[in-house]
Amino acid sequence: LATVAVAEDAFVVHRTGSPLPDAQREAALAQPKFGTVFTDHMARATWTAGDGWHDRRVERYGPLQLDPAAAVLHYGQEIFEGLKAYRHDDGSVWTFRPWANAARFAASAYRIALPELPQEDFLGAITALVRTDAAWVPGGEEMSLYLRPFMYASERFLGVRPSLEAEFLVIASPVGPYFAGGVQPVSIWVAQDFHRAGAGGTGAAKFGGNYAGSLLPQQVAHAKGFDQVCFLDAATNSVLEELGGMNVFVVEADGRVSTPELTGSILEGVTRSSILRLLSDAGHEVAERRIPLDEVRAGLADGRVAEVFACGTAAVVTPIGRLAGDDFDLTVGDGTSGPVTTRIRAQLTDIQYGRAADPHGWMHRL
Ligand code: PMP
Repeated sequence: LATVAVAEDAFVVHRTGSPLPDAQREAALAQPKFGTVFTDHMARATWTAGDGWHDRRVERYGPLQLDPAAAVLHYGQEIFEGLKAYRHDDGSVWTFRPWANAARFAASAYRIALPELPQEDFLGAITALVRTDAAWVPGGEEMSLYLRPFMYASERFLGVRPSLEAEFLVIASPVGPYFAGGVQPVSIWVAQDFHRAGAGGTGAAKFGGNYAGSLLPQQVAHAKGFDQVCFLDAATNSVLEELGGMNVFVVEADGRVSTPELTGSILEGVTRSSILRLLSDAGHEVAERRIPLDEVRAGLADGRVAEVFACGTAAVVTPIGRLAGDDFDLTVGDGTSGPVTTRIRAQLTDIQYGRAADPHGWMHRL
């Protein structure tokens, strides 16, 4: 992706007069609980059909005012993104491929008829917020500041048509290691009665409704004792798609690595495409293809499939130790993280935390 100018100066910073006291912030950063504690500020811009984007600002974090007739509350016009700011040992703060998130945000907006946010405003908002709340970017092993850009339809109107008003915001929450006490393999329930997305639908957009639809299957899987759900394609109910919030990879014993192809019904993960690149650089034969569940089941049974892992911004790379469904229950390898999974996780986090060279220019300094 080409780098475009960052418009952080366009975001006017109104600093809060009452930030969280230093001691309380330090306590929150020492034991971050993902998604429960937020920084002192939020970035924001408003869109109206006549004027386009305006009122770019950073302001005190706080509740939003929403009319009961706001379109988002009725027809669900909402999209979001997720990326992290990492503190390197020299104190500098970086994001990983934020232009990819900006492009995906624009694509998501297009799919649900929200206005496109210029990519320089996406980066500008993140830059302005992280600079304002710089003290909130934790240092230390696998710590980061999770950034959540989102946009919703704010127009007060009950007609079913694209909203003529929208709000864009970025909020931020400090996060600690996803796996406290070492990477733990997860167990996966393959959903055969529920689908996440279908052809021509919204599966490739980071659209709130996709996640609402994944909650019941996730609840059912939990009740059966599994950590997460893997969805199959809606057309044939036989091909792997992705988890509720992560992409999936299959590693064969001969070193070949596959991930489901982009059919329009899965999300194109930034982690996914980075892993494809790094594995290919390392000499693996990589393929984006149709992966039938039956092939994976047979491969796990006869040893051709050595590792299965999931990937995404939150957990980076998560080994899958067990894969089960209505009529099968299989252990992956010996149930622990395999060598390819362990290596790719270390390689990615080393780039993100500045411990290794950044061969593809993926890191962006804030
Ligand atoms: N699939 C879905 C459905 C997701 O929500 C996410 C998280 N954004 C991913 C895959 C992984 O994407 P990324 O690597 O960009 O975080």
